[in-house]
Amino acid sequence: MSATTLKTRIGEPDIECRYPVIIGEDRVIGQAYRWHRDWLVVTSEGEHNLRRPAHGTKGIDMAAAYLAEEYAAGRVTAVALEQIRAEAPKPLDGPVPLLHPRMPASPRNIAGAHVAFAGLTEHRWRAVLHGFPGSDNPWYLQCELCPWSGVRYWSHHRGRNGNPPSAYRHEGGCIGEEKVRALIPAYQK
Ligand SMILES: [Zn+2]
Repeated sequence: MSATTLKTRIGEPDIECRYPVIIGEDRVIGQAYRWHRDWLVVTSEGEHNLRRPAHGTKGIDMAAAYLAEEYAAGRVTAVALEQIRAEAPKPLDGPVPLLHPRMPASPRNIAGAHVAFAGLTEHRWRAVLHGFPGSDNPWYLQCELCPWSGVRYWSHHRGRNGNPPSAYRHEGGCIGEEKVRALIPAYQK
């Protein structure tokens, strides 16, 4: 470890749940995100997998410390937060592919994706950013019942331990729990 004491802060994540790690006046030295159990960073030099954080350390803190060192050593350059925001991924108009680009097209992943997409249709959600990212990775979804869109996890949506999924997944400002239950058979069990 170097003696760097570069102070970093974590900005708001984009719709892929990538967190900008910021120094000074809104200068981004990299973006950090979790993929399955690993934490990865994207910098001016590309992508780098930091793997799993040590026990008791938060992944985002590990990533921020790594980026601070890289920046202090002159190995990465900073970018304006405004530019990161401008280049952030945006929802697509048309259909998304079956699998997220990081998901290998294995028979297991393909089968899982078909199940997940059937579930989205049944539960009145639409994927509008990318294909199935796996059960425990963030998935940007559009509600088909109201204008809400945001990040969800398929493992939370599908119902746990053989139980039906919770209507609570359409929450707050949606069309109301009773209407949601009436429209979605899985919620009526
Ligand atoms: Zn809704």
